[in-house]
Amino acid sequence: MTKILIPCETSLGERRVSATPETVKKLNSLGCEIYIEKSAGELSGFNDFSYSESGGILFDKEDQNAWKEADLVFCVQCPEEKNLTNLKPGSFLVGLLNPYGNSDLHNFLIKSKVSAMSLELIPRISRAQSCDALSSQANIAGYKSVLLAANELDSYFPMLMTAAGTVQPAKVVVLGGGVAGLQAVATAKRLGALVFVSDIRPAVKEQVESLGAKFIELPEIEEKPSESGGYAKEVSAKFLEEQRAILTRHLSEADVAICTAQVLGKKAPILIKEEMLDKMRPGSVVVDLAVAQGGNCQNTEPNKTIIRNGVKLIGASELPSSVPFHASSLYAKNLVSLITPFVKDGIMEIKKDDEIIFGCLLSDNGAILQEKVFAKGGTN
Ligand code: NAD
Repeated sequence: MTKILIPCETSLGERRVSATPETVKKLNSLGCEIYIEKSAGELSGFNDFSYSESGGILFDKEDQNAWKEADLVFCVQCPEEKNLTNLKPGSFLVGLLNPYGNSDLHNFLIKSKVSAMSLELIPRISRAQSCDALSSQANIAGYKSVLLAANELDSYFPMLMTAAGTVQPAKVVVLGGGVAGLQAVATAKRLGALVFVSDIRPAVKEQVESLGAKFIELPEIEEKPSESGGYAKEVSAKFLEEQRAILTRHLSEADVAICTAQVLGKKAPILIKEEMLDKMRPGSVVVDLAVAQGGNCQNTEPNKTIIRNGVKLIGASELPSSVPFHASSLYAKNLVSLITPFVKDGIMEIKKDDEIIFGCLLSDNGAILQEKVFAKGGTN
């Protein structure tokens, strides 16, 4: 019978958990045994009792046997080394493992012969949508970024006609119209803002317009941005310069900028430079979701709010974790969707040539399968 271990997350600020009572029930129904470290769900709103009621088996933090016997570890972020070293060769570690340029993980996987699946690498094909953890979490980040901005802004979002006068709606500029960006657009629209979006993938124009936002036209230069596998490819320095020139005007009139632009495995493009910040009005707010990848805005720092000439710069790298109940619920379902096709009568047989598994399998029994990801920090 396949044993699945659910650990307490130990990364700083992490409040999510990789299984919920609902997914424990589902995994049980597939014939698996689920071992849950005590208190694993506490910060996400799931108590130990709810897990044991759903058929989970609780274990103590000190109990290393659970790690030694596990066939599969479902995690959000990579567990601590002291636990990982107890895993047996051939067991699977599955989670958001942050493999880019991660030499510690690379060395551990070779030495331990633990096989690892990194959810960041799940291919963007229709069949993989239900296990796409980047999307489920980016959606939450997009939503929460707008709430953060509204909370910090010195003015209303909606247009209001009051006896004391008319209030104009906030102008929100969203940089990057991917999963997080589109959810930010939808949330800002619901709050009544005027929304403008910049993205380099042509498909985004229609998507933002269908949400009632306006698309900011791209620079008219020869270079045409391209994409591969649903991800934008990096544009040239010249293109970015022209793009920033167009954005400068929009930002000088904006109340809020939400930064979500990313290029897989690369540093995020800098779309707001200091001189552009100089033109933003005091009291306006920039929320940078790309801050962990270097940021779309100069001067933002992870998990910090910096006030620069009256403009609030919020480096928001851990937003999914700030909505831990739903972030965990969706993430846990992503994991169940990933694994379900490979479990029959409680026995797990991962098919390594399956397109989804092949895409996200970092290592197999000590052999590294994605050297490129570890080495140069990207897949493009
Ligand atoms: P992402 O996080 O890699 O990037 C966010 C956005 O930044 C993208 O829209 C990208 O085009 C944009 N960007 C990059 N450079 C930019 C620049 N210089 N200026 C402005 N914007 C820039 O992407 P994501 O949000 O994870 O997903 C992108 C798209 O992939 C989605 O919109 C969706 O259509 C598709 N997708 C498909 C699947 C699937 O089919 N399984 C799953 C997830 C996403």
